[in-house]
Amino acid sequence: MLFMQGKKETHALPSKEYSNLISSFFPYFLPYTSGLSNVCNNASLTITRMNTRQHPAIRQRLRRFTVLLAMLLFPVILNYFSPYLVIDAASHGTVNGSLILFALMFLSSLFLGRLWCAWGCPGAGLQEMLFKVNGKPARNKRLDWIKWVIWIPWISLIAIMAFRAGGYRNIDFFYMTENGLSVTAPLNYIIYYTVVGTFVTLSLWLGRRAGCHAICWMSPFMILGRSLRNLFSWPSLRLEAAPTQCSSCHHCTRHCPMSLPVEKMVSQNAMEHRECILCGNCIDGCASKAIRYSFRSGGKSLDASHL
Ligand code: SF4
Ligand code: SF4
Ligand code: SF4
Repeated sequence: MLFMQGKKETHALPSKEYSNLISSFFPYFLPYTSGLSNVCNNASLTITRMNTRQHPAIRQRLRRFTVLLAMLLFPVILNYFSPYLVIDAASHGTVNGSLILFALMFLSSLFLGRLWCAWGCPGAGLQEMLFKVNGKPARNKRLDWIKWVIWIPWISLIAIMAFRAGGYRNIDFFYMTENGLSVTAPLNYIIYYTVVGTFVTLSLWLGRRAGCHAICWMSPFMILGRSLRNLFSWPSLRLEAAPTQCSSCHHCTRHCPMSLPVEKMVSQNAMEHRECILCGNCIDGCASKAIRYSFRSGGKSLDASHL
């Protein structure tokens, strides 16, 4: 299917356009009044609207700004992503903040794929900042499997701990988190710098977002969510390609933050990839408008597994 050609791209935005852009983000602040699917629809609508308004540079700047902000907040929010606290809490039969966030990541991925990885994660801000130092692609496919070697024993340990504690009996979002702040004591600093140091080292050593590919304990929740979505084929946010419009300029492949073979995906009309974070960089960088967002079911992957 061919896409409609957009209007000519403009770089200077009039103030009315700015106010439209800001107002298009209001749906994000409505989760208290609507259900999960409404929130997902609102979020995807926002992205689609930005797509049709032709603000490529603005969207990517905004995205980089939000992940940079998340990275700056990381010392405050570290505990809510902690792989250790979730085990400790399970051993006391407690649902803690990180377990709730991991569950939300899984639920959001059913409709929004890995949008969290593009727009909200502190790890994204940290690693994308390093693109200027080492921007080489992290193309080793074996990297993608390391995280499963970490994740499967880890999730099993959580289940065992919860089982030994007699199941989950209470919820404490701020479990072992004093005043809601994460880095408050010398030990917390050591943990914080260990996590940051590991992601930084991997990115500097192996390339773009290597930490996301190799060691992230959160991404499997979202990969499983999108696999489930693909299995049942319900509508969700995806990429859609128009292969006949592609001019084979290589731009999308060269600039994909997740080092994916985007041009090949476009040429085979197989835009489903478990490592795609739906950042939209390929959409915004494609002068031929050969890629766009869509909210629909279906979608073919390069290996034709659909999962
Ligand atoms: S893969 Fe992990 S570290 Fe990377 S952006 Fe996603 S959640 Fe964050
Ligand atoms: S940026 Fe667009 S035109 Fe260039 S290779 Fe990618 S899809 Fe094709
Ligand atoms: S394929 Fe496109 S949307 Fe997916 S990670 Fe790469 S640049 Fe982002």
